[in-house]
Amino acid sequence: MSIQLFCANYDIDSCLDQVRQCLEKGWTGMGFKTVEFENEWKKYTGFKNAYFTNSATSALNLAVVTLKEKHGWDDGSEIITTPLTFVSTNHAILLANLSPIFSDVDDSFCLDPKDVEAKITPKTKAVMYVGFGGNSGRYDEIASICKRYGLCLILDAAHMSGTRMNGRIPGEEADAVVYSFQAVKNLPTGDAGMLCMPDDECDSIIRKRGWLGINKDTYIRSVESDSGYKWKYNVEYLGEKYNGNSIMAALALAQLPHLDEDNKYRKKLAERYLFELSDYKDHIRFPRYFNNCTPSWHLFQILVPERDGLIKHLNSRDIFPGVHYVPNTEYEMYLYAKGTCKHADYVGNHVLSLPMHMRLTEEDVSYVCSCVKEYVIDNNSVTQLDLPKDWE
Ligand SMILES: *Cc1c(COP(=O)(O)O)cnc(C)c1O
Repeated sequence: MSIQLFCANYDIDSCLDQVRQCLEKGWTGMGFKTVEFENEWKKYTGFKNAYFTNSATSALNLAVVTLKEKHGWDDGSEIITTPLTFVSTNHAILLANLSPIFSDVDDSFCLDPKDVEAKITPKTKAVMYVGFGGNSGRYDEIASICKRYGLCLILDAAHMSGTRMNGRIPGEEADAVVYSFQAVKNLPTGDAGMLCMPDDECDSIIRKRGWLGINKDTYIRSVESDSGYKWKYNVEYLGEKYNGNSIMAALALAQLPHLDEDNKYRKKLAERYLFELSDYKDHIRFPRYFNNCTPSWHLFQILVPERDGLIKHLNSRDIFPGVHYVPNTEYEMYLYAKGTCKHADYVGNHVLSLPMHMRLTEEDVSYVCSCVKEYVIDNNSVTQLDLPKDWE
């Protein structure tokens, strides 16, 4: 049996029961279960608002466009962001005709507050923060920089379902928090996302913009009492079709009660990795996790000297790890910033995501660790890790 990087686990009976409710009602679209899941997510996070979308990518696009409009940002205004992310994060900025300004990461692999502050210009309007792998990094310092400079804060929490910081769900001070419930994330559906904007006006705008700009969704129309005018609506925005549907929300409702216990299991696996790989500091390092963070452990990442060779070796042992991420500044769209984030480039060249999912056993983890050590420690031709000076 091969060991894959990710593999989603579902509470199948509960999923089928939730989906059955949609089919019996004859309602699989927006409304019904999407409303129910939005309410459950608000309870879970403590956030005031939550809008269920068809992906986190859609949610990011909506967040940026809506903040741009609300605050009247000019085209070309700058948003400081990280190169170490899935491209949706940065595409959202470009799609809104804004300019992604790449800032370097620190040893948590999240944005470095010092470099973020250094990159602020009169054109800076916001910071886009990614809680990488479920780690909150120095999020609190970034939040206070945003407050000090009057910048908006967008939290790409795609990896952070279930992450706690100081015992709470982080993101309360952000202008937008975006979650992903894509198939391999910690709360898997098929494809879905959530956009939480504390500002009520923004929440009402994103519900229109996410539904072609129409000011009444079909669900509101179906339950409206002045039934004679059900068909009457206005189109206020050039919107997109970004709304989530009841089938995805049904899966999310079935999975949410398992999120915290799943993340506890991930933590157990992470601790096993840490236990088995911690004694080899010359060859294997981990991102820094601060004490105030209880990560979701979406990813378990290591830095190693010869990453690509290690991948080949693990593949030969039937283990299939991943790389998160190639710095976005390596891609054609973002080449203008290539080489501007030295630490992110270092991570991009040395980072490896080891298998992390609910079907992995502790024995699997030990096997993966022994195969990692075979290559990285026992193999005399592998050199030591040449960490950036300020990370040692
Ligand atoms: C997965 C992911 C996204 C996009 O999520 P989708 O739901 O697949 O659109 C955005 N940002 C990060 C950091 C991600 O990992």
